[in-house]
Amino acid sequence: MTGLRALVTGGASGIGRATAEALAAYGARVAVVDLEPDAVRAPLLAYRADVADDASVRTAVRDAAAALGGLDILVNNAGIGAQGTVEDNDDAQWHRVLDVNLLGAVRTTRAALPYLRESAHAAIVNTCSIAATAGLPQRALYSASKGALLSLTLAMAADHVREGIRVNCVTPGTVDTPWVARLLEAADDPAAERAALSARQPTGALVSPEEVAAAIVYLAGPGAASVTGTALAVDGGMAGLRLRPE
Ligand code: NAD
Repeated sequence: MTGLRALVTGGASGIGRATAEALAAYGARVAVVDLEPDAVRAPLLAYRADVADDASVRTAVRDAAAALGGLDILVNNAGIGAQGTVEDNDDAQWHRVLDVNLLGAVRTTRAALPYLRESAHAAIVNTCSIAATAGLPQRALYSASKGALLSLTLAMAADHVREGIRVNCVTPGTVDTPWVARLLEAADDPAAERAALSARQPTGALVSPEEVAAAIVYLAGPGAASVTGTALAVDGGMAGLRLRPE
């Protein structure tokens, strides 16, 4: 990664933070774009933007690219959750989550493409979710946002492959991040809820943010030069395995 320049949205916490730190550890220079830039530590650069706001995204991407001297890697990772069936979320909630999880990646990609076109090793990685490919209960809106992001990944991979820009995504299972910690805190019995979430994954354990970061670093790096239009599951076997009851 030495000499490469990366931008990670949602890089102040969880998967994004682990990804930004891993990219930097492998020698990349990294800018984080987040609502909470004060949580970002040097040597990572930090820029405040709401991916739901086009003007703030364009300014942050422009400033980050100027500071880094260009861009080679874009990680569209910023995202928010939503629970419930189609009856539980009103139109405003649908618009808000799609605005961040789907259109956030569109806006950041649009702003970054002119810089990525100048790169000899251009790659985009989107953080999707197991919810994009599996029917999870009580996750209608969130699943739709991540399913659309997965489809967008494939379409963008096709549109930009001839320009030398690769586009892939990861589909994590339940990852042990501050987001999940907040969900557990809100549960009646956090320890029992953590055990239930862990048991849902065939490996019996939550995924660590560092494992997802390692998958993103692989997809973003020169070692994956022939990999584009793929979804890499980092999900404890949730999507692929059909175990017999014990
Ligand atoms: P997190 O809440 O720990 O971190 C998310 C980061 O994104 C935060 O720093 C937050 O400030 C930032 N962010 C949120 N909305 C933003 C906006 N509008 N503009 C700019 N920044 C914004 O969450 P996480 O668990 O690390 O999740 C990161 C990504 O991974 C999300 O896209 C999420 O959907 C996806 N994901 C998470 C899990 C999981 O179990 N944690 C599983 C699958 C996919």
